Amino acid sequence: MVGLVLVSHSWKLAEGAAELAREMGGPEIKLETAGGLDAPDHPVGTDAVLVVGAIERAWSEDGVVVLMDLGSAVLSAEMALEMLPDDRREKVLLCEAPFIEGAVAAAVTAKLGASAEQVAAEARGGLAPKIAHLGGEQAAPAEAEGSFDAAHGRTIRLVVANPHGLHARPAARFVQVASGFEADVRVANVSAGRGPVTARSLNAVATLGVGRGDEIEVLATGPEADRALDAVRALADRGFDEEIVPEEPAAPTARPAGPAGAIAGVATSPGVALGVARRFQPAPLEAPDRASTDPAAELEALEEAIAATAEDIEAQRAAVAGRVGAYQAAIFDAHRLFLQDEMLLDPVRAAIRDGDRSAPGAWSSSIEVMASEWEALEDDYMRARAADLRSVGLQVLAHLLGVPVPGPRLEGPGILVAPDLTPADAAGLDPALALGIATAFGGPTSHAAILARSLGIPAVVGLGEPALQVTEGTALALDGDAGLLYIEPSPDVTAELEERRRTRAEADRSARAEARAPARTLDGLTVEVAANVGSPEEIPAAVDAGCDGVGLFRTEFLFMERGQMPSEDEQEAAYRRAAEALDGRPMVVRTLDVGADKPLPYLAQPPEANPFLGVRGLRLGLERADLLETQLRAIIRVAGDHPLRVMFPMVATLEELRAARAAVDAAAQGLGVPLPEGLQVGIMVEVPSAALTASALAPEADFFSVGTNDLTQYTLAADRGNERVAALSDALHPAVLRLIAATCAAAAEHGRWVGVCGELAGDQAATPVLLGLGVTELSMSAPSIPGVKRRVRAVDLGRARELAARALELPSAGAVRRSVERATD
Ligand code: PEP
Ligand code: MG
Repeated sequence: MVGLVLVSHSWKLAEGAAELAREMGGPEIKLETAGGLDAPDHPVGTDAVLVVGAIERAWSEDGVVVLMDLGSAVLSAEMALEMLPDDRREKVLLCEAPFIEGAVAAAVTAKLGASAEQVAAEARGGLAPKIAHLGGEQAAPAEAEGSFDAAHGRTIRLVVANPHGLHARPAARFVQVASGFEADVRVANVSAGRGPVTARSLNAVATLGVGRGDEIEVLATGPEADRALDAVRALADRGFDEEIVPEEPAAPTARPAGPAGAIAGVATSPGVALGVARRFQPAPLEAPDRASTDPAAELEALEEAIAATAEDIEAQRAAVAGRVGAYQAAIFDAHRLFLQDEMLLDPVRAAIRDGDRSAPGAWSSSIEVMASEWEALEDDYMRARAADLRSVGLQVLAHLLGVPVPGPRLEGPGILVAPDLTPADAAGLDPALALGIATAFGGPTSHAAILARSLGIPAVVGLGEPALQVTEGTALALDGDAGLLYIEPSPDVTAELEERRRTRAEADRSARAEARAPARTLDGLTVEVAANVGSPEEIPAAVDAGCDGVGLFRTEFLFMERGQMPSEDEQEAAYRRAAEALDGRPMVVRTLDVGADKPLPYLAQPPEANPFLGVRGLRLGLERADLLETQLRAIIRVAGDHPLRVMFPMVATLEELRAARAAVDAAAQGLGVPLPEGLQVGIMVEVPSAALTASALAPEADFFSVGTNDLTQYTLAADRGNERVAALSDALHPAVLRLIAATCAAAAEHGRWVGVCGELAGDQAATPVLLGLGVTELSMSAPSIPGVKRRVRAVDLGRARELAARALELPSAGAVRRSVERATD
């Protein structure tokens, strides 16, 4: 059997690791330690002589594998190797495996009689189960090794009842037992669809992620296959030699009692609010349960109600985009998709057509069926989407019944108390009136909760029935940090919460005051921190938040809020109002970016199978040259008097950029004016091809602004409106960062500046990485500006460059985030 040596700076650590390894590998393994220095109290350090001694004690003609912790442990082990006689040295293998996980895996493998190389290989893979479990990506979980060949062996299926499934100890027992026979044993996690893997590797078995209640399938081939399977079954019957405590039925989770006079709920949006109760108790909308008398008319009413709701949703989307940003507004894209969902609509239309149900009745039933399906899902987040579906259902039903859509309409400032809120309810709230939100039901991952956080309204949800007993006008105090609602709070509570409210407001005010100053890194680089806006009306708030300009004027909102194209004069007036409100600060006007998720209702476009890959952004502008020219003329007219920059969306090729620049020249010529001095013409980098050919584009574009929302969607093939792939859409993914790095490198060669105007710009974790890559302008929704400016002021460019260079080499967005966190600790 191969001998093992553990070398550590710490005697205690070496002994502890050895104890763990023996527990897994069994007491008979040959395992020795060399920990600390050779003195009575084992001071911390390493000593080559002690390592030689440990190797001698662990000596085996099969070889010795040495694992070390760090730094001088490695040097001492190397020195020890030098000190050994030649014939011994060649049988000693220094192994770079992780210390603890490696020791355990090595012990289990050594016990099986494996060679020194096999033991070392297994030790090196020791981190795989942890990585697989925690969702890292450096090691894939349980690579399947071929498939079960039932014709040449026998299989058994077992259900694992151990509380933590086949975690390290039972997995080690499984490996030991299954490997004790002349048989090739493989195992698969049938429940999770992982495997099969060899039963000789602890790492492979552990990465199957077998949890409590999972079914595994074990296949054995070879002369002792039957005996191996019998032994595995016996082991499983013994609970893999672990004591199995039956699972206690979960106690009903009682709402935690709050302090006297308070109801406890779930803290959902931080902050404190004091005020009177503003009750909102929507009257339920009853769908008459009658048969359809005139199916054709009912079908028409249904389509009209859906169209009217689509318009409402568009207005909600625009309002949220303007107030808190495009990212939060995307919630409403999902709502619009519900209105096109055939699984929802087909049964409704069929029931109406067959004369079985009226439109309201059929619609309500279909919504209920689908919402219950969402509610049956295991994932909390997905379950919460039932509320979104019901919100859309209610809006359509109100249109069908010809009644106003129920929603909170606050007559004066106060704390909104309601059973629950829909995202549409939350989108319509004015923080000057809704000082706080208290709901009886709902969870912190609901979209209403997300919107409350974005709007900065303190909120507590899940307060239960007692919240519904609160009557209109009752004095309340809401603690959004602790998740408490005080009814008729005592003077002490009021004073304490009022003090906290005042302090927080003061801190916000000072952050905003500081935000007016330029953002300079520690080494003096000034970074332009700009605002993303959708209309001139949003600019005063952006200036108030400290914006240095507008880095993205999404002009499509001007086009969407109306029934026809805005004229050149109307557009000029809007751009001029925006520029004047900016008072000399620069403004990047992006030309019309419609198509795909932003259709223009009055612009007929043939349906496209993949609209995100279709005629959107500049592609539409070049196809409809008349629209682009009108817009460019309006921009040029304002650019004569104000520092405007023009930017084209969705540029994929050099030819498109050239055509767009030619359109700018043609528009100026058409107006009979020279191009305004200093008018910069740039492009968005949001298609990977643009980033990858940035060196060809840079000579002809005055600047690049990276649209990380689309760039991430196209790079990771993850639809930005599809919540089910939302986890893939993290713009800090190294693949996206590499494209930004390529853009910055090409821009630098040609003296161009690079900005970022996607959501990543407002993400403080990204600030040092982006600056380290060479970005000098960040444009975001106004509320993010003060925080990002503060973050920029803490950046040391040298360290940021190192951080960015490291990020490019990491395997995942999660790893980049962790690396930034560590660097900023
Ligand atoms: C982007 O894609 O990152 C971007 C800013 O453009 P939009 O979100 O408007 O598509
Ligand atoms: Mg975009």
